[in-house]
Amino acid sequence: MDIVGTVEEDKRDAELNLDGKGRCCTGFVVEENTNHITILTCAHLIQHVFKSSDPISVRKANELFAVHVLCDHYELSFRRPLQSIHATRNYARATIIAINCTKDLLLLRVIRKEVMNLNRRCRNSHRALAISPSPPETFDKCAMISWPPLKPRTAVGGAVANPSRPFLDIVEEEEENPVEYTMDFIQADIASETGSSGAPLLDGNGRVIGLLHGGFGGRFSYFVSHHDIVQFLMQSGILAN
Ligand SMILES: [Zn+2]
Repeated sequence: MDIVGTVEEDKRDAELNLDGKGRCCTGFVVEENTNHITILTCAHLIQHVFKSSDPISVRKANELFAVHVLCDHYELSFRRPLQSIHATRNYARATIIAINCTKDLLLLRVIRKEVMNLNRRCRNSHRALAISPSPPETFDKCAMISWPPLKPRTAVGGAVANPSRPFLDIVEEEEENPVEYTMDFIQADIASETGSSGAPLLDGNGRVIGLLHGGFGGRFSYFVSHHDIVQFLMQSGILAN
């Protein structure tokens, strides 16, 4: 990836982070140990700079982008009435450790002691979500918990409309698919909005069955499949083979 284009201004401002800078997505913990936290989110957090046939490397992605995360506990503290310690949020720096441009998946690692809760280290657990042992089926109930800008803990329930919807069923025009995605999605009757991308789709036991890719403005949202998530986490050494 040698060429970086400029994104027109009217396309930039929709996903600004909570303090009005950069782009914003939701992510969830897939591994926690004493030294670090590993977070799964969508690769299009850094969209406009890759496509399936020309993927960006982890090294290049870290060179070009600075990713910062905020944990849910910090946000709750920040919103506490009379909180005046910080005027703006204090994010922790994350490192991109794996990316799959074809499947829209990105893994971030954050040093545990750098995760803050206002002016202190966050000492709460950031327990990893369990990945479901099996993929969902049509009519299975599901829920998505996401964090669009300024709307933390947005929970939406629905059902699986199609567990294996080809991407090419959704986009008809080539220009609607600049990244050249070809994967199958979980289609669910769940509404989503900008900044929810990367949110977990959960089954009735609270286990991960999908990850939000996008909603395309309709009543359905489309999720990276359970199979693709499991493969990515196995390739990255987060899940055992
Ligand atoms: Zn925390």
